[in-house]
Amino acid sequence: MLSASRSFKNKNLLPGVILFLLIGKIGFAEVSGEEVKMSSPITKVTKAAFVWSEDYKASLGRGHIFPTIKYQRLYSAAIKQKILKEEDIFKPRPLKDEDLLLVHSKSYLRKLELLALSPLGMLNGENPVSRQILKAVRLSSGGTYLACKLALKYGIGMNLAGGFHHASSNQEEGFCYYNDVALAVKKLQKEDKLNKVMVIDCDVHHGNGTAMLFQDDDSVFIFDIYQEDNYPMPKVKVDYAVGLNSYAGIDDEKYLKELTVLPNLIDKFSPELIIYVAGADPYKGDQLGGFNLSQEGLKKRDEYVIGLAKEKEIPVGIVLGGGYAERIEDTIEIHLNTIKAIKSLLR
Ligand SMILES: [Zn+2]
Repeated sequence: MLSASRSFKNKNLLPGVILFLLIGKIGFAEVSGEEVKMSSPITKVTKAAFVWSEDYKASLGRGHIFPTIKYQRLYSAAIKQKILKEEDIFKPRPLKDEDLLLVHSKSYLRKLELLALSPLGMLNGENPVSRQILKAVRLSSGGTYLACKLALKYGIGMNLAGGFHHASSNQEEGFCYYNDVALAVKKLQKEDKLNKVMVIDCDVHHGNGTAMLFQDDDSVFIFDIYQEDNYPMPKVKVDYAVGLNSYAGIDDEKYLKELTVLPNLIDKFSPELIIYVAGADPYKGDQLGGFNLSQEGLKKRDEYVIGLAKEKEIPVGIVLGGGYAERIEDTIEIHLNTIKAIKSLLR
């Protein structure tokens, strides 16, 4: 038997439509928000856009469990295996202070800056702070925003980073400093590019930061499937939660079955954009997760979620989320499979 908790909160369904045209520089060049203009609504996924920068890398200190090297290694593997071409990669710009203030408090941002200037920053528990780290996360958050914007144009956009779902307005947590998902939503809403967004969070950990940030916001619907008996505690209420206990032995079959509620939820909420947190940590070999999913099962998960968005003609922005497999090669392979899943859907 599965031990699961599920909750559903009705929300007002607001009308909405959107989309845009990217003009100017594309390809292996910087792309800014100002270069996207309104266009007719998307009716078909035409291509997938991938966002990455070599400046995503930042050391969290020797021996830290979060392998930030995965950003470089994922990109290199995708190029080496000819899954992606260099000229197909879009380069992000870092978010500005005014963007960060859409989600985070001034005092929190100031605290991070001060920590970054002090040697104490690197002693900040599991969440060390340095100028290099803040710079990289600011850029990664710009990457998530760009991936979502490109999704609105092409149908699918993926940032080869991001998914910092534990960061809240006033708190860094769980290796997350700026909540890139919330920032992308708030910035796109502010720019009148969309209203209703659905977050599908499949990281093994509950996205408490994102949940707190949108708790009273009817324009954002959060579906979160996570390990109930794991960090973070306590859980924060979301629109639809699937909390699974590890002692129930969560394998591919049990996990994938829980996702079959998604078509209904998507139809009811009718989002203009889906943001998919494709965490690699439900993997059986993960050091910070207690699920037993195989790499093949995670690939099926990706194909199902992204395939649903495609089938329903809803743009989908994808971010990596966590991944702490004992062998970093496994984490890279799982993220690589997300890219392969996208490519196979476009064939
Ligand atoms: Zn996680």
